[in-house]
Amino acid sequence: MKIHSLIQVHIPRLISRSFGTLGTQKPGQNYLHRTKHIQWNTSSRIEPDYELCDSHSPNYLWIGCSDARIPAHEGTGQKTGNIFVHRNLGNLVLNTDANFMSVLQYAVEYLNIPHIIICGHYDCNAVHAAVDAKDHNNPLENWLCNIRNVYYENKTELNAIPDEKMRYRRLVELNVVAQCVELFKTNTIQRRRIKTYRDDSFPYTQPRIHALVYQPEDGLLKHLKINFKEYLRDRGEIYNLYHPAEAKAKLSQEPPSKSLKRKLSQ
Ligand SMILES: [Zn+2]
Repeated sequence: MKIHSLIQVHIPRLISRSFGTLGTQKPGQNYLHRTKHIQWNTSSRIEPDYELCDSHSPNYLWIGCSDARIPAHEGTGQKTGNIFVHRNLGNLVLNTDANFMSVLQYAVEYLNIPHIIICGHYDCNAVHAAVDAKDHNNPLENWLCNIRNVYYENKTELNAIPDEKMRYRRLVELNVVAQCVELFKTNTIQRRRIKTYRDDSFPYTQPRIHALVYQPEDGLLKHLKINFKEYLRDRGEIYNLYHPAEAKAKLSQEPPSKSLKRKLSQ
C-alpha cells in the first residue's frame, strides 16, 4: 500500500476513534461524521528539493512555542532544510526534558548548528495560564510553573507595569531571555563553545544564541538583546560557566591568536 493511501484511509479512522472516546456516542456508532472537516490533501505535495536528499545541514535550531497560530519558521525567510525545529508550550528550555535535551545535543554535536533561536510570541496562552491563579493539574501545572518562576524573578519590574496587556507582553520577553540563559548554561552549549573557541577554523564561537519574539498583530519578529557577559559575571561562580578567556588560559599557556581575540569580541 502506498504511503499516501495509507494516510488517506487509516489516519482518519484512528482519529475518529480517539475523538469518539471523548464524546457521548455509544459504542458501535459511526464516528466518521465528526471528522468530515478533516481533508487529507494527498493530491498535491510540497515541491521537493533534491539537493536536500543527500544532506541535512541546517544553520539554525529553532525553539518555539507549540501554539498553532505561530509559524515555526516561515517568517524568517529561510529555505526548507535550513531550520531544525523544536516546539513546546511556552518555548521552555529544561535540562530535565529528555526530548528537548536530545534535540539540542543532536543539533549541536552532530549537525554542528551554529545558531540557536529561542522564539516566544505575544498573546501566549502558556504565559497567561502560568500567571492565572488556577490549578491546571499535572503535568501541565508543573510545566507552567517554570514560567511562573520567571515572573517571580522579575516581579519588581513586572508589577510596576500598570497595563495588564503590556505586563503580559513583557513577561513573554523576559521568559525568552530566561530560556536563552538556561540554554547557555547547558553542558552541551558550554562544551561546544569551548571547542569552537579553541579551534581557529571557526570564525566565531558557536553556537550563537538569539532571542526573538513573534508579533501576531503584524507578523514581525522582534529581536531581544541579551548581555551574556553580564550573566557570566553574575552567575559563573555558582554555575561554573566558562569564560572564553579563562578557559583559554587554563587550557593553554599560549597567548591567544589574533583570530581568537577577534572571536572573543563577538
Ligand atoms: Zn505560546
